[in-house]
Amino acid sequence: MIPASFRYAAPRSISDAVDLLRTYEDAKILAGGHSLLPLMKLRLANPPVLVDINRIPGLAYIREDAEIGRLRVGALARHIDFEHSDLIRERYPLLWDTARGIGDPLVRNRGTMAGAVAHADPAADWPAALLAAEAEVVASGPDGERVIEIRDLYIAILTTVLQPQELVTEVRVPLAVPRSGGAYEKLERKVGDYAVIGVGAQITLDESGNIAQAGIGLCNAGPTSIKAIDAEEFLAGKPVAPDNINEAARLAMEASDPVDDDRGPVDYKRAMVRELTRRALRRAVTRAQGGAA
Ligand SMILES: Cc1cc2nc3c(=O)[nH]c(=O)nc-3n(C[C@H](O)[C@H](O)[C@H](O)COP(=O)(O)OP(=O)(O)OC[C@H]3O[C@@H](n4cnc5c(N)ncnc54)[C@H](O)[C@@H]3O)c2cc1C
Repeated sequence: MIPASFRYAAPRSISDAVDLLRTYEDAKILAGGHSLLPLMKLRLANPPVLVDINRIPGLAYIREDAEIGRLRVGALARHIDFEHSDLIRERYPLLWDTARGIGDPLVRNRGTMAGAVAHADPAADWPAALLAAEAEVVASGPDGERVIEIRDLYIAILTTVLQPQELVTEVRVPLAVPRSGGAYEKLERKVGDYAVIGVGAQITLDESGNIAQAGIGLCNAGPTSIKAIDAEEFLAGKPVAPDNINEAARLAMEASDPVDDDRGPVDYKRAMVRELTRRALRRAVTRAQGGAA
């Protein structure tokens, strides 16, 4: 399939990119292209102008910043950069698990975390993981920069609170702290496929070994990526006990609202939310306790 014709611009700075978005109504940013180009080829998206941000220097970073207490991820950090990062493997296992399960090597070589966050596909893995991680999104637009908590980002399928002239320049994740760990569980029909269901979990334990904080995000379990808030709140302050994990998994299932499609019927998907939440929480706890999982 061939996309409709479009104009192409390759700005060299964020401010030039914002200017182009302001000048051309309905312009679209091109990052990895692995969600946008398939839509254009199917003519489900027909942007008149593409603003390719790949030539803006200095946006491909993943680095810890103690001053703001965040892991900072630039808009051009690609899925593969997480997969190959010792920092991510050793200190951010939730992100490491997530990156390694996305698509296939071709997709991971080009696709970006920021692009996936902005695209707002409920079937995408990053948003669920980042909801568990309590991430923030930095957006630059004509009025300057603003920071949006990812829990406030998603409105509906493929729809966020981002304005058309705004560009996601950075995603921020709280720095790994002692006694914390995360995990991502993904059920797929075959290697390289989108998730039937995915679940991200991030746990911090207190000094007694009880759960101080829990984050749980659900992928492909509803019209948007879902933060399982009742399950998170239930776990806070509780001992790590199978009954508590099971109850949190049940609450996560209650938060889900999947549809019946070629990846399975609703009851099956809800059962998978429950089981994958259980598994993700168990692995996150093991990692927070310093074990390998
Ligand atoms: C065969 C295949 C399999 C895949 N499997 C999976 C999978 O298993 N799991 C998964 O999560 N994803 C999967 N994907 C999607 C892939 O991860 C995409 O790369 C990702 O969702 C979007 O990132 P991108 O950089 O490619 O964005 P693009 O395709 O370039 O852009 C996507 C959308 O986001 C906007 N955008 C991009 N960057 C920004 C920005 N910085 N600021 C504001 N808006 C922006 C674009 O304008 C566009 O509307 C798959 C894709 C393919 C083709």
